[in-house]
Amino acid sequence: MTGISLNKSQETETVNCLITGSGPAGYTAAIYAARANLNPVLYEGLQPGGQLTTTTEVENFPGYPNGVSGFQIMEDMRNQALRFGTDVRYGDITEVDFSLQPFIVKASDGKEIRAKTVIIATGATAKYLGLPSEQKFKGQGVSACATCDGFFYRKKDVAVVGGGDTACEEAVYLAGLCNKVYMIVRRNVLRASKVMQDRVLKTGNIEILWEHQTKEILGDENGVTGALLTNNSIEKIIDIHGFFLAIGHHPNSDIFKKYVETDGQGYIITKGKTTATNIPGVFAAGDVQDSHYRQGITAAASGCMAAKDAENFLVDNN
Ligand code: NDP
Repeated sequence: MTGISLNKSQETETVNCLITGSGPAGYTAAIYAARANLNPVLYEGLQPGGQLTTTTEVENFPGYPNGVSGFQIMEDMRNQALRFGTDVRYGDITEVDFSLQPFIVKASDGKEIRAKTVIIATGATAKYLGLPSEQKFKGQGVSACATCDGFFYRKKDVAVVGGGDTACEEAVYLAGLCNKVYMIVRRNVLRASKVMQDRVLKTGNIEILWEHQTKEILGDENGVTGALLTNNSIEKIIDIHGFFLAIGHHPNSDIFKKYVETDGQGYIITKGKTTATNIPGVFAAGDVQDSHYRQGITAAASGCMAAKDAENFLVDNN
């Protein structure tokens, strides 16, 4: 294993707990680590605040009975982490060497850090189709999270793209809120598990559009109004107000993969009911290690676990 070398011209900083990522997992880890006197350093990452900042209103996070904007909840978590002394830094972790203890970590601000523990909370990124109209209407009808945004389309018609378990789960969830749900499936089969397929097929207000692709999302100044689809080069427009992407997520684990074990999809593997990875002293929390629940509250909970695991590791290893 070839490690990275420290830049001799710079003074090396040693930290007890380095957290990478600023979603609910990263900030919760920071709050707990700071209150345990670990003096954590947190690099915010490429998307400060994480995925929740891309959603309009969060209504299912306990403690906000009237809902809260995605931006506000992350600002609240950031302020709480700062209040207990977390050193929050703008920038990203660019390179790691987990073959040495303390670990060597390089950041985009040019700093090189020796970290006794590392908490990876870099999250996952929803995949998008890559259409310009998708970006245009993001947050105005285009969403990658039905649980977060479905409620805004109550009694309206919506579409879900994808044929996997997530798409089926989201379609069934949306069917309980919306008037009609189209599932746009690119093949003539669903990839989803049989049980999820059955749930979709038994739900009366879901219509599957087999072998359809989305060519464009249509809309006006108020948001999405429809989608232009193709089926064997025949075009068709569906009238919808919400367009939900469910074509998979990409866990942001690439720079750690050389050392940290991941599953076939790149999600970091954690041990049992802990956040420990295969590298003692390296912990993973939030969506980067969770392909299943993927909620802000579950990410926050695992951030708490990671901070406690890091604290115990430091105690055990003096
Ligand atoms: P998957 O990768 O399983 O499915 C992605 C779906 O999106 C596939 O149907 C795929 O089509 C389709 N797709 C991909 N790219 C495009 C594109 N460019 N245009 C149109 N369609 C596209 O992702 P999921 O998020 O559904 O699931 C991830 C993992 O999480 C899986 O292991 C799943 O089992 C698990 N999971 C389990 C749940 C449960 O058990 N309740 C709930 C949610 C997820 P194609 O099939 O043609 O490749």
